[in-house]
Amino acid sequence: MTADQGVPGRPLLNRRLAEFGTTIFAEMSALAVRTGAINLGQGFPDTDGPEAVREAAVRALRDGRGNQYPPGPGIPELRTAVAAHQRRWYGQLGLDPDPETEVLVTAGATEAITAALLALLEPGDEVIALEPYYDSYAAAIAMAGGTRVPVTLRPSPSEGGAQGEGTFRLDLDELRDAVTDRTRLILLNTPHNPTGTVLSRDELAAIAELCVERGLLAVTDEVYEHLVYEGEHIPIASFPGMRERTVTISSAGKAFSFTGWKVGWVTSTPELVSAVRSAKQFLTYVSAGPFQYAVAEALALPDSYYTQLREDLRAQRDLLSEGLAEAGFGVFRAPGTYFVTTDIRPLGESSGIDFCLALPERCGVVAVPTQVFYDHEAAGAPFVRFAFCKQQDVLADAVRRLKGAPG
Ligand SMILES: *Cc1c(COP(=O)(O)O)cnc(C)c1O
Repeated sequence: MTADQGVPGRPLLNRRLAEFGTTIFAEMSALAVRTGAINLGQGFPDTDGPEAVREAAVRALRDGRGNQYPPGPGIPELRTAVAAHQRRWYGQLGLDPDPETEVLVTAGATEAITAALLALLEPGDEVIALEPYYDSYAAAIAMAGGTRVPVTLRPSPSEGGAQGEGTFRLDLDELRDAVTDRTRLILLNTPHNPTGTVLSRDELAAIAELCVERGLLAVTDEVYEHLVYEGEHIPIASFPGMRERTVTISSAGKAFSFTGWKVGWVTSTPELVSAVRSAKQFLTYVSAGPFQYAVAEALALPDSYYTQLREDLRAQRDLLSEGLAEAGFGVFRAPGTYFVTTDIRPLGESSGIDFCLALPERCGVVAVPTQVFYDHEAAGAPFVRFAFCKQQDVLADAVRRLKGAPG
């Protein structure tokens, strides 16, 4: 039974979610399976994270730690480790959360984002988000009764570079103009999926000033905080006046290559953490008991772990970006994340959706049309996202296939 069948006279899927009923991902994944294509669509690594961390999860399971409901805010070991992580990487910027009251463990960043929006929005509140956006944002805003207001990241051809023709940039005037009396919060994501953009210190400072001036909250998705290849990651919570109005969100999935574990966290003031927890407790209450112990150990890995992860991904990014450029794509630089965005117009194509639907048959590769992450669909039509969080030989194979495809 599908959403528009069943009880006569009324669709099963409600109005808030109707537009999210189907996504292109299911279709693309089915295509990938049917054609045996290399899947550079979805952003998950094809290699698991550190063996020691996996073993820590096994040990926790065997020792009976976390097999029953963990504490609502997360196990103390993990809350302490999250607080220590914030202090270790951002302490010099003034971030030093109290593990007792300023940390909340969630079922991945996804639940943290949804819980934050459910907690902080009244129906009709406007939420500004940078478009194209991560696919859960629009649905989460809708579930919370909010209205999304997209501000489009625009491709800028500046800065050339061997691997790319520019990056996607935020227009600060457009952002300022998007704020109204109904704006409640800015939902920020840096490093940004799908464009790979890393917001600069100046851009973050301007966003922070706007939040303070207009009395806005910020919910910030920083799951790629350790995957920055150019520039630097600066939590917006560290800017003047922002600590008390920012909900900072991250997760173990991308930092430790265990996306299936779904261990995420919120750091913020006691008041904001408590608000988010009010919603979170009725979504999952708790999750991932034994994995929480393992992630507590992962967060304490030495700097060399984080450096190696970044350098490995940088090499993967370079391999794929160069290959895509050689195959004739326009390639945007990806200063961060798992993803490189391409422009298919140099190939004589204009619809990313048609292109991606044909690509598996044509050359055995799956990619994602970024148009599906836009409200202003036309703005995203010619762009296609490829994930480079895959082994080098897989990427090399994909590049060979893409080069073989008729342009
Ligand atoms: C992967 C991803 C998430 C989801 O994180 P989980 O911890 O798996 O829920 C959230 N935001 C962005 C931008 C992502 O790329």
